[in-house]
Amino acid sequence: MEVRRQIDVAGIVQGVGFRPYVYRLALERRLAGNVANSPAGVTIEVEGPAEAVDEFVLNLPLSAPPLSCITHIQVREVPCSGDHEFRILATRRGEQIHTLISPDVAICPDCLRELLDPHDRRYLYPFINCTNCGPRFTIVRDIPYDRPYTSMAPFRMCATCQAEYDDPLNRRFHAQPNACWQCGPQVELWDRKGQKVPVTDPIAEAAEGLEAGLVVAVKGLGGFHLAADAINPAAVARLRQRKRRVEKPFAVMVPTVDAAADFCELSDAAVEALRIVQRPIVLLPKKPSSRIAEQVAPRNRYLGVFLPYTPLHHLLFEQGGFRALVMTSGNLSEEPIAIDNQEAAVRLKGLADCFLVHDRAILRRCDDSVVRLVDEKPRQLRRSRGFVPVPVFLKDDVPEILAVGGELKNTVCLTQHKHAFLSQHIGDLENLESYRFFEEAIDHLQRILEIKPHIIAYDLHPGYFSTKWALAQKEVELVGVQHHHAHIASCMAENHLDGKVIGFALDGTGYGTDCHIWGGEVLVADYRDFHRAAHFDYVPMPGGDQAIREPWRMAVSYLAHHFQRDFLHWKIPFVQSLDLSNTEILLHMIERSVNSPLTSSCGRLFDAVSALVGIRGEVNYEAQAAIELEMEIGEEESHEAYSIDLLRRDETWIIDTKPTFEAMIADLQNNVPVSSISQRFHNGLVETFVKLAQLIRANTVLDRVCLSGGTFHNVYLLTRLQRRLKGSGFHVFTQAELPAGDGGLSLGQALIAAHRVRAS
Ligand code: ZN
Ligand code: ZN
Ligand code: FE
Repeated sequence: MEVRRQIDVAGIVQGVGFRPYVYRLALERRLAGNVANSPAGVTIEVEGPAEAVDEFVLNLPLSAPPLSCITHIQVREVPCSGDHEFRILATRRGEQIHTLISPDVAICPDCLRELLDPHDRRYLYPFINCTNCGPRFTIVRDIPYDRPYTSMAPFRMCATCQAEYDDPLNRRFHAQPNACWQCGPQVELWDRKGQKVPVTDPIAEAAEGLEAGLVVAVKGLGGFHLAADAINPAAVARLRQRKRRVEKPFAVMVPTVDAAADFCELSDAAVEALRIVQRPIVLLPKKPSSRIAEQVAPRNRYLGVFLPYTPLHHLLFEQGGFRALVMTSGNLSEEPIAIDNQEAAVRLKGLADCFLVHDRAILRRCDDSVVRLVDEKPRQLRRSRGFVPVPVFLKDDVPEILAVGGELKNTVCLTQHKHAFLSQHIGDLENLESYRFFEEAIDHLQRILEIKPHIIAYDLHPGYFSTKWALAQKEVELVGVQHHHAHIASCMAENHLDGKVIGFALDGTGYGTDCHIWGGEVLVADYRDFHRAAHFDYVPMPGGDQAIREPWRMAVSYLAHHFQRDFLHWKIPFVQSLDLSNTEILLHMIERSVNSPLTSSCGRLFDAVSALVGIRGEVNYEAQAAIELEMEIGEEESHEAYSIDLLRRDETWIIDTKPTFEAMIADLQNNVPVSSISQRFHNGLVETFVKLAQLIRANTVLDRVCLSGGTFHNVYLLTRLQRRLKGSGFHVFTQAELPAGDGGLSLGQALIAAHRVRAS
């Protein structure tokens, strides 16, 4: 029996080779009909024997092109029309196209083969791409996704490229960035002053510079990298000093998985994480024998490793004799990544010895994404290039909302229907460049998604730039969201949860509803509201933000909190090393509540312990003291744990760390190794959190626990707590698709706003 069916496919299905794929699928089954781009995606009509049509529909999502992402398929019966062939219909002019833009992904195996094939017309061409790979998000100015609206607009395709572009059976059919040596972008080498150097092979020249230990600024997909030979300690040290980045680890690009295995322990999951088309930086355990310069990731047991993703990267490794390149974002510490050639020449002046640039403009900044494997599953630490703007899929429809995120590691989020679109990593909104990036990102996302929300969700912290920006918007409905509530809602949304949960929101800083600085919070929450079921006892942060940069202040604060001035006479190295006059000033500030805001922050507790045991009195980057405290834990399994008191105050449990500090001081006096102290401290937290979850379950009958907040980037804490909670009969939910830290905050803000607005 002959049938005809219409299939509407929504999602990322335009500009990714979807129509040619449908065409081939239909030809293989000798089906008639047509395929065309539609406002929502692609519309297909197929006609033929019922069995073959059914089989076509079944197979459609199974082997869809790598860059496509189907969000919805709708099939309906239509009358047969007696077609005998299958055709790709041109997009009707003037038709409003509303579809999703795909992210930037790594060069595909076909293009890589052609790149290195001396007989191919694109042999060694650094901008080779096809519908299965190449730049997307970062070259898009506006929608529809068509060449004139991308940074490929100035390049006119030659006849050969045009023929590929027009041929439905060609891999480059409607590949908007299609180009070749004749018609496309070209690479140039610039000297340290930004003057063009006349050389025949700029890439070979740059590779030679890298081999000689120079720092080379390399224009990538979402911005410039600063590159240096990772095996050469002098080159790495030079880069560190120029970038004014004291100890924060650098990421390293390696040519192949084999090269990665020289430097890191590789599990199957790690290999897979390295190889995915998004090509994130993957944090992997360093091999002790690693030849990577110590300065790449000092005092860190992990190394951020990634594989080449642009043809240009591959050519650099082809030309140069290096096994690993530091590839760090082209900026001074904490500024946004540079994208424009001239901008790079100015901003990276003094940082780079030369510039490898090209004339395909980057229109959107997009930093590298970072993932980490926990129990062999990748978790996002920074969700950016390769993943943006693929939406996070939600359980239920939500109104159109803009959520502007927090202050550090900022991302913004736009919602529509069942989709939440998170922006690329915008970073720390504390300098002018970042403000601009923040505004650009909002504007661009709204434009390409055609969403213009009238509801804006923001963090309650009055000092955050994102908050001030939100409050300055006109004719919008504003919803203020508590920071830790947003963390828990983000975790709920990612896991498609509804109703009430027990939420552990542990991080460094978040503004509380009592105007204190929260950060060690146990909430009973749903999307609308929360009850603060438990929190760490408040301690002063002498000097405010300075206490974040100088963990020794938190150690003094904790000691004074628990033991008043008694600790000054103790014979432990931390106390003996204190500068007496500085300590006296600090104690005065604490005792008189001068510039000493109160905090229940879990991050500050980690800082205090890290300083107390002698790991770190001052930090050079966010969370450094906590990270190094975690790194101290040795391999051997121990269940010894410091105890913590839980005090009931009204409807809330106060987490009192006095017994932990008492035991820790005793251990320090007995010269117990720091590795054991760190482990006992971590274990004590785990046991306390399990006990709290049990107490709350007894009261509320809730047995679902959400874990979110930057502290859960601590793998030891996360895996232990998860295991112990599961063992106690809880259902545990964590974040993987989004960062547990503030990078995932905007999603939670959006969901809370959606429910508050709906309810009012
Ligand atoms: Zn390709
Ligand atoms: Zn061409
Ligand atoms: Fe946070």
